[in-house]
Amino acid sequence: MEEALRIQNLPPYLFARIDQKIAAARAQGVDVISLGIGDPDLPTPDHIVERLVQAVHKPANHRYPPSAGTLGFRRAVAAWYQRRFQVELDPRSEVVTLIGSKEGLAHIALCYINPGDIALIPDPGYPVYAVGVMLAGGVPYRVPLREENGFLPDFAAIPAEIAHKAKLMFINYPNNPTGAVADEDFYRKAIEFARKYDVIMCHDAAYSEIAFDGYKPLSFLEIPGAKEVGIEFHSLSKSYNMTGWRIGWAAGNARVIEALARIKSNIDTGVFLAVQEAAIEGLLGPQEVVQQLSKVYQERRDLVVDGLNSLGWNLVKPKATIYVWPKVPKGFSSAAFAEFVLDKTGVVITPGNGYGEYGEGYFRISLTVGTDRLVEALSRLRANLGHVEV
Ligand code: PLP
Repeated sequence: MEEALRIQNLPPYLFARIDQKIAAARAQGVDVISLGIGDPDLPTPDHIVERLVQAVHKPANHRYPPSAGTLGFRRAVAAWYQRRFQVELDPRSEVVTLIGSKEGLAHIALCYINPGDIALIPDPGYPVYAVGVMLAGGVPYRVPLREENGFLPDFAAIPAEIAHKAKLMFINYPNNPTGAVADEDFYRKAIEFARKYDVIMCHDAAYSEIAFDGYKPLSFLEIPGAKEVGIEFHSLSKSYNMTGWRIGWAAGNARVIEALARIKSNIDTGVFLAVQEAAIEGLLGPQEVVQQLSKVYQERRDLVVDGLNSLGWNLVKPKATIYVWPKVPKGFSSAAFAEFVLDKTGVVITPGNGYGEYGEGYFRISLTVGTDRLVEALSRLRANLGHVEV
């Protein structure tokens, strides 16, 4: 029963490993506070749940869905882009429904990567980009996101011979895990780079709706020329607390969307029709829920950043996402610090090296627990760490 080479070197998913550690600590009676995975703790808004309940009773919704998604859902995506970003999309040719954006991010490499081909991957970055490339037989080339560059890739520092060989590049703003955001100038550079080297730019915008202090993240597709060179991945998971529902989309360049839809139509059969109906309600229904959600995360962000800064950190408040990305204290590696914190305090943080080698020296805190638990986590850190040097 020998496994294929493609999975022999595939580690278990980062959070599968962390889940094992949590289970072991809980089995020993530890009151674990998990600031690990970015899975929203708050429920899906009622009007979306209600729409699902109605949709589930319709027998027509019990059948196979069209693999690329219903035209109704794709129209809702186009209408949402128009309203939110003033971006025009043809729902028939420029939008494909995904079983969560993770699925599309993993499958896009199958469309463009031949064995040995290069894809440019942000490091630190969401692990799925690199794994998708490796499963397609490609080689991820890790582009460092350095703090001194605002955690943006430096396009000029990517060697020309690598850029010439690259087929795809993944970018992600607002960024997981760093919380960094990108401005128009950055996206212009990304488009210029994609044109120059004939690279398909894949922008992951999963966190575009979770932003603070009045800041409104951009869509890559707002920038002139974006649709000629790439696509944007998106999802209802974080904006509407719908991680378990598994629905997202990719939008943009029609040729790339068609390729992704073709691969998908041969692998999966789309998203449950009732979930697509409920997702339409999410995208077209009242949007105050999204603003309220950002307010909740903003409060938590303030609590965590102020709390850590009072312990000796020197963090700037992130403008978006559900993450805080501090440096580990002097003398610790990322893994050693995460282990130390779990052992001493029962608080789970994600070691930065889980997101790539350039994540070493950092850890990620997810703001997906209530303020009472965040206060408790901070007080346990204070009791066990005292004042830290970073
Ligand atoms: N992209 C990023 C950067 C993420 O952090 C996540 C999930 O945490 C996803 C995509 C996937 O989200 P989903 O598959 O639920 O749409």
